[in-house]
Amino acid sequence: MKNKISCLCGACEFGVELENNEIGACHCHMCQKWAAGLFMAAHLKNAVDFTSIKSAKVYVSSEWGRRIFCENCGTILAWQMADASFTAVSAGALENKDGLVYAEEIFVDEKVPAYPLAESTRKKTGVEVFAQFES
Ligand SMILES: [Zn+2]
Ligand SMILES: [Zn+2]
Repeated sequence: MKNKISCLCGACEFGVELENNEIGACHCHMCQKWAAGLFMAAHLKNAVDFTSIKSAKVYVSSEWGRRIFCENCGTILAWQMADASFTAVSAGALENKDGLVYAEEIFVDEKVPAYPLAESTRKKTGVEVFAQFES
């Protein structure tokens, strides 16, 4: 599924191909700080080389992943695995949100207690997520 990512100020704009129409939420402690709560994202089919996108700033947030945002306006663009084998782009920064389905929530064991896990999504703890990537 072809789509486009753009930031608030317009400095970052690039085409993406989504793996499917699903979006997921990450409730991990790092995403809470980064995204003011949960991080809503869609999985990409192909890797994106963010160093080639002007104004996209790459922050290495852990040994397994990095976070990409617009250095001018701060818009969150993506989370990417250290080896670039997996990229999740911000669902909020997608140009076309038609037909997207809220399908998965990960790191549910780190979720902010203030809001419920009321949607009928696939739910995975942090341990389950790491097990999935290691398999
Ligand atoms: Zn921007
Ligand atoms: Zn997270």
